[in-house]
Amino acid sequence: MSERAIRKESVKTISPIDVYTLLPKTNCKECGEENCMAFAAKVVNREVIIELCPPLLEKEYAESYKTLWEMLKPPVKEITVGRSDHAIKIGGKLVMYRHEFTYSNPTAIAIDVTDEMSDDELLGRVKRTEGFTYNYIGQVLRLNMVAVRSTSNDPARFKSTVEKVVENTNLPLILCSFSSEVLENGLVAAQNRRPLIYAATKDNWKDLAELALMYKCPLTAFAPNDLNFLRSLTKTLLEYGVEDLVLDPGTFPNEGLSDTINNFTMIRRAACKRGDELLGFPLIGTPIVAWAEHVDAPEVNAWKEAYIASMLITRYVDVMIMHSKDGWVLLPNVVLRQNIYTDPRKPVAVEAGLRTIGKPNENSPVMLTTNFALTYYTVESDIEASGVSGYLIVTDTEGISVDSAVAGRQLTAEKIAEIVKATKVEEKVKHRKVIIPGKAARLSGEIEQLTGWEVLVGPRDSSGIPKFLQEKWK
Ligand code: SF4
Repeated sequence: MSERAIRKESVKTISPIDVYTLLPKTNCKECGEENCMAFAAKVVNREVIIELCPPLLEKEYAESYKTLWEMLKPPVKEITVGRSDHAIKIGGKLVMYRHEFTYSNPTAIAIDVTDEMSDDELLGRVKRTEGFTYNYIGQVLRLNMVAVRSTSNDPARFKSTVEKVVENTNLPLILCSFSSEVLENGLVAAQNRRPLIYAATKDNWKDLAELALMYKCPLTAFAPNDLNFLRSLTKTLLEYGVEDLVLDPGTFPNEGLSDTINNFTMIRRAACKRGDELLGFPLIGTPIVAWAEHVDAPEVNAWKEAYIASMLITRYVDVMIMHSKDGWVLLPNVVLRQNIYTDPRKPVAVEAGLRTIGKPNENSPVMLTTNFALTYYTVESDIEASGVSGYLIVTDTEGISVDSAVAGRQLTAEKIAEIVKATKVEEKVKHRKVIIPGKAARLSGEIEQLTGWEVLVGPRDSSGIPKFLQEKWK
């Protein structure tokens, strides 16, 4: 392994002092911070970028800027696929483990089409990929890319297919073939779209490197189950001048799954823990391989694809190609992705305050919950399912769920009394009854004392809300 390729800075922890030392240290406040140390602390936390310090960009600090840039660059390079508003960034990972720092650039999911599909099937899949949305705790989850595969190996046919895809979607593209002639036809059809080229191997790397340079596109290096060769291929491509690379160590179903997971893990470990620059690129996985196996029931292929995808999401994949368009395959994976790419230090929270559900009147129930997003959206949908209109008081518990918030005192009778008053809900209803979650039952006496409202203890699980309202709310 070349020592030159190991970037020692990436393995050490960068402190605010390391950054501060290289800043102009004039405390001029042009960056909007009180002083350079405050700015340095935010830089280390990746809350601001060094370019927000205008003096640092001046000629006299050119050396410091360069050193800082090198020091702060992520061990996994960030690559852009697509152009302008429709571009997607992949990679750019700073750490190996999610608890070390929030993951950036969630795994991009591409759905495949081929140049042997009928127009109806091709455009149907493109539209379905583009139109896929799922609202999950206040966030819209989507698919991200279209992978156009040449299964015909016919350059003209591939070109025509890429043209149709380009006409019908702005989603970023992956163009897949091992033939440079086929790929070049696709690249001509996708002019100015900066697709990801898939994939350079030991046999075609030179021709594909030429294409990547000519069309200014990122290129995938593919070396199935051979990390040494993958590293050597990356080195060769970098020396040839291709800088934006994506690595594919191969995705293997069934008994090959352990090798797959091992390879993905070893590559990311080499980049993040050892600072190996030759492996410091985004990773592409292909759960679509599950479909290569012939089985009588296609659900079996789809099921395998679903679990391969979920394993890859947890094992550092930055972009992946899938075939299934079934909700039961895609939904668990987009939700898993959303969970993994959320900052574990900050629970997903919604704004505190009073919500109206349906068309409540002065006799409608007043209910209470916390501002943990998952709790809030579950409670809201269970109230809607009950068909009963009402008011929902959302208490700021710092995004903590009911039982934890009661235990940690983020949800107290005092806090509830404050928000009941602040929302002025007493002006909206003529009764004085509030329904609290079953898991906050032990606060009921204190709440009654502090608010003067009668407390009704609701179900411990919000799925019991419809039954509770039907039986208890008169
Ligand atoms: Fe310091 Fe730069 Fe901010 Fe001025 S703009 S206070 S020099 S970090």
